[in-house]
Amino acid sequence: MQKYDLLIVGAGISGLASAFHIKKDNPDLNICIVDKWGTYAQGNTAKSDAAFRDVFTSETNYKLASSSISFYRDVQKAGFNLGMHFNGYLFLMDEVCLNSPSINKLLRKVKSKVLDRSDISDLGIQTSPDPEAARIMNLKSIYGGLVGENCGIMEPDLLAKYYVKELENLGVDFEFNTRVNKLNLSPRSKLNFPGEPFIWQDKFVESIDTNKGDLIADQFLLATDVWTNDLLSPIGIDSFTRPKKVQVFQVQSEGITKMIMKRVTGDEDIFPFTILPSPTIDLRPDPKSRTFWISYSEGIGQGFSLEENPTADTEYYSNNLYTVLREYVPAFIESKIVASWAGFYSMNNMDGTYVLERRMNLSVVNGSSGSGIMKADSAGRLTSALFSGRESARLYDGSEIRVADLGISNRKVDLETLII
Ligand SMILES: Cc1cc2nc3c(=O)[nH]c(=O)nc-3n(C[C@H](O)[C@H](O)[C@H](O)COP(=O)(O)OP(=O)(O)OC[C@H]3O[C@@H](n4cnc5c(N)ncnc54)[C@H](O)[C@@H]3O)c2cc1C
Repeated sequence: MQKYDLLIVGAGISGLASAFHIKKDNPDLNICIVDKWGTYAQGNTAKSDAAFRDVFTSETNYKLASSSISFYRDVQKAGFNLGMHFNGYLFLMDEVCLNSPSINKLLRKVKSKVLDRSDISDLGIQTSPDPEAARIMNLKSIYGGLVGENCGIMEPDLLAKYYVKELENLGVDFEFNTRVNKLNLSPRSKLNFPGEPFIWQDKFVESIDTNKGDLIADQFLLATDVWTNDLLSPIGIDSFTRPKKVQVFQVQSEGITKMIMKRVTGDEDIFPFTILPSPTIDLRPDPKSRTFWISYSEGIGQGFSLEENPTADTEYYSNNLYTVLREYVPAFIESKIVASWAGFYSMNNMDGTYVLERRMNLSVVNGSSGSGIMKADSAGRLTSALFSGRESARLYDGSEIRVADLGISNRKVDLETLII
């Protein structure tokens, strides 16, 4: 059996970006990435809307996303298509929200502009929903919109493909169809008594138990997203994250086909990724199929749960999402669902961003909280710094983040209020 310097569990975007930066920082390391699926990026990375934005209230999230966006933009400029379009993010707001100090601060910080009611009506959005519907469903009138311009959509499979190509060139191995059942703890100094490790022995992860037998390495990294608790809980480590199901419905109509081509920012005729004021349902344009992907990350009401193969419930769409959508966007009235799917956010409910931890010879990157595509490059750089024991990570755009700020005991992240 080959012994690796580092075994990474999880070939989603977090595992791939982390492997890329760890290998670049430590070229001599012998690294293998294992995943339970038959190829890379089949977990939540495949379920993603893959929209990106630098419009975040938390400084940490802002840094993580804006640096990653710069990196992706340069990768695409250099000739590797990531399916990136800078069609913008449109946050539709009522008067109180648009004039709030936190939105004013954002407008000064990020590349953005404001749309007024008539601009929004021109896009095919009704700014004053029917009063009776508004009363029953707590719908807000739209006063204006904040457009984030360094924002848009991309394709997660292309981003994953980019990292895989780089990793293959760097000589990183992959083992697919390899399910990790548990982490095997051992004492640093073995006495060979039954029942080891005892409480007074120094412990480390010696190997991982998989469907293909035990795999051994000096170091391990879990990039297992919502499945992290399955591996950490049995050895008494808390991931501080919970899985939250999110469903996506791909919706088509004649009106939507026309709407999708309306431009608000950027140099392409693509509708912006749009967030309704309340409930904050999001409309993700898919320019290829000229459809909208509709999703909503529910707070109270939606439990924390995890299924291996989640599906979307069309009744949930009809009763919850459609009833709101048709009030704001008449193009939905004659629409139909053409596809649907579901995945999970790995939610860190404290502040809505990553939890990076290192215990023994085990590092963990988790808690992307619904924005792990747009931040993956920065997360990879931070995970490499965590793995190498460096105090801080230098991001692609030159900004720095202290690794401990994203840890548990000395965590220092300001609260994110724009989770969608
Ligand atoms: C509906 C939806 C919409 C989203 N929209 C956006 C968006 O617009 N923008 C954005 O930036 N982010 C978005 N996200 C979030 C984003 O998709 C995730 O943050 C990101 O994909 C997480 O990547 P990951 O590599 O951590 O997890 P995953 O892609 O889930 O990868 C984890 C991998 O670990 C493997 N694994 C787990 N346990 C084991 C085990 N025991 N043995 C072997 N392998 C194992 C899995 O098979 C999987 O491949 C969205 C997510 C969802 C669900």
